[in-house]
Amino acid sequence: MRVVQVTRVGEAKLADVPKPRCGEDEYLLKVHACAICGTDVKIISQGHKLARYPVVPGHEFVATIEAVGKKVKEQGYPFAENDTVVMSPGIPCGRCVECLCGHLHLCRNKTGVGFQLPGGFAEYVVLPEQAALCFLRVPESMDLDDATMMEPVACCVHGQSKMPISPLDTVVIIGAGAIGAIHCELARLFGAARIILVDILDTRLGLIEKLNGAVITVNSTRRDPSEVVMEATKGAGAEKVIIACAAAAAYPLATKVCARDGSILFFSGFPPGAERAPLDINTIHYEQLQILGSFGSTRMDQKRSLDLLEGKRINTERIITHRMPLDQIHEALELIRSGDALKIVLRM
Ligand SMILES: [Zn+2]
Ligand SMILES: [Zn+2]
Repeated sequence: MRVVQVTRVGEAKLADVPKPRCGEDEYLLKVHACAICGTDVKIISQGHKLARYPVVPGHEFVATIEAVGKKVKEQGYPFAENDTVVMSPGIPCGRCVECLCGHLHLCRNKTGVGFQLPGGFAEYVVLPEQAALCFLRVPESMDLDDATMMEPVACCVHGQSKMPISPLDTVVIIGAGAIGAIHCELARLFGAARIILVDILDTRLGLIEKLNGAVITVNSTRRDPSEVVMEATKGAGAEKVIIACAAAAAYPLATKVCARDGSILFFSGFPPGAERAPLDINTIHYEQLQILGSFGSTRMDQKRSLDLLEGKRINTERIITHRMPLDQIHEALELIRSGDALKIVLRM
C-alpha cells in the first residue's frame, strides 16, 4: 500500500509498504480520504513535541472498517466491518484525573493517531481497540470529503463553546487559514453582526471573502487592523477576538482590538519562543478582558460538527480548495506553504 512516511523532520516521502494485518485487539481501516491539518505540516516540516518519528501523519481521515480483531469482537465493541468512521485523534488513557473527570480530550497520557500511532496519509491504518472511543459513524448520505472536516470543525465548535458568540457581536478573527474560515462560518451561524478577518496574505483573505461575503478582510501588512475595527465599531472595539494563527504579533493585536469587557480566545498554539509573549496584565485588568484557551474537542462537539456538516450549514465547497491524490503530497505541501490553499483533501 502507498503511504507518506516522515522519517525525520523535513523528510516526507512516499513509500510502498505491505498492507498491515489486523491483530486480535485491533481495527483495520481502509482510508478513503484524509485532509491535511496545520499540525501535519508542523510534524513534517518543523517537528512536533508529540510526534514519534518515523511517523505516518494524518488524523483528519474518513475510513471504512475492513476488519475487526477477534478479541475486539468478543468484547462487543459498537463498531463493525463496513462501518465508515471519522475520529478525533487523541486516544485517551481512561485512567488519569482528566479522563476520570470526563475531560477526555485533555488526557495527559493520550496517544495520538498520526503522532505516535500511524495516521491516515496511507491506504490502510491499523489502530488499537481503544481507538473506538474516538470513532464516530459517518452518516450514509454524507460526502466523504466533507467527513474529513469533522475534526477541525469540532475543534472550532469547541473553541466557540468556550467563548460563545452572541448576535450583534463584532468578531475579529486573526488568521485566514482553514481554521479561520471555519470560525468565520460559525460566527455567521451564531449571528455575529460583523466579522473582521485579519491576515498577511491577500490570497487567503480572498478565498475566505468568496466563502463568506459578509466578512470584512484586512491585510495587516498594509493597514492597521485596529483602525478598521475601531472605525467599524465607532471606537468600541470587538466583543470577541479569536487568535487562529501562530504569529506572536497576534496577541498584542488581539488586546488592542478587543472591546472593554470583551473576550479573547487563544485557539492556536504559538511556536517555541513565542509562547511566552508577555501578557499585558493592566489592560486585562482595567479593560476587564476575558482570556480563554481552547484545545481539541469533546464528543459532543464532534457530534455537533458532524450534524453541521451533514446539514450543509458550513460551506465546505469553498473551504476545501483542493482535492488531490496521495501521490501529490509534495505539491500539496507546497500549495499550503504558498498560501494558495485553505484545506487540501488527499484521496487514496
Ligand atoms: Zn487537525
Ligand atoms: Zn487520561
